[in-house]
Amino acid sequence: MRPFAYARAATVEEAVSEDAVYLGGGTNLVDLMRLGVERPERLVDVTRLPARIDDDGAGLRIGGAVRNSDLAAHPGVPAVLREAILAGASGQVRNMATVAGNLLQRTRCPYFQDVTKACNKRSPGSGCPAVEGEHHNHAILGHSPHCVATHPSDMAVALVALDAIVETDRRALSVRELHRLPGDDPSRDTVLEPGELITAVVVPPATGGRYVKVRERASFSFALVSIAALADPWRIALGGVAHKPWRCTVAEQALRGGASIEEAADAELLVAEPLRDNAFKVKLARNLLIRTLGEL
Ligand code: SF4
Repeated sequence: MRPFAYARAATVEEAVSEDAVYLGGGTNLVDLMRLGVERPERLVDVTRLPARIDDDGAGLRIGGAVRNSDLAAHPGVPAVLREAILAGASGQVRNMATVAGNLLQRTRCPYFQDVTKACNKRSPGSGCPAVEGEHHNHAILGHSPHCVATHPSDMAVALVALDAIVETDRRALSVRELHRLPGDDPSRDTVLEPGELITAVVVPPATGGRYVKVRERASFSFALVSIAALADPWRIALGGVAHKPWRCTVAEQALRGGASIEEAADAELLVAEPLRDNAFKVKLARNLLIRTLGEL
């Protein structure tokens, strides 16, 4: 472990600075520090910032420091978001992990986590061994030759389907705009600037909806493919398929235009570009879309 400075902030004003790396529950960041992937000079612990969930009837305003377990237990949480949170990690991890940290967790691509390997995300310009290497759980949509990683969060997929808003110390933006596709700079996961702190997530009211996750074992595993979907109007997002939660705008538009669920799923996945060993994900995504939308 390399030496680093540590400070604990009680207010947003106290926390924010250009060179800070923010520490929430540490369930991803501390692992990455141990692996040598993250090497912050200065950690600012933001777990003491107000962890409030305000429900004014027009939606929930969730503090960035709220723990995942506390959010899942809140009576005002839309079912699709609760199901997504409870599909993620283990009870112990959910007790530690924060809402802001969940959104900002980094890919579990094995090459990214191994500092002896090349990786454009960790070490820009070094290459992407996953393109020709082990990639059965990598992206099928929106990837680039520079990175084929997927975003690991379940919660973020539900928040994208819910059209939630992220508030930072300097602006508000849709969760749909928070995460980036890799393009030619996969080192940046999100559009946040250095030192920008997520202070809250605002979730509009919603009823019904489903989150369904397909994974390789029954618990504590990341999604091969997941889906968050709400009907009336249709709002659909896929997880485990791209560098960001994938909002299915093409399928939504097709359904609005009177297409069948099968036609909408096929239209959405027309732009899928599976890698050598993950074409099974296209079929999995199609089946998941058809089954979940059919149930709704
Ligand atoms: Fe790195 Fe992305 Fe390639 Fe994985 S897929 S090795 S994270 S550049």
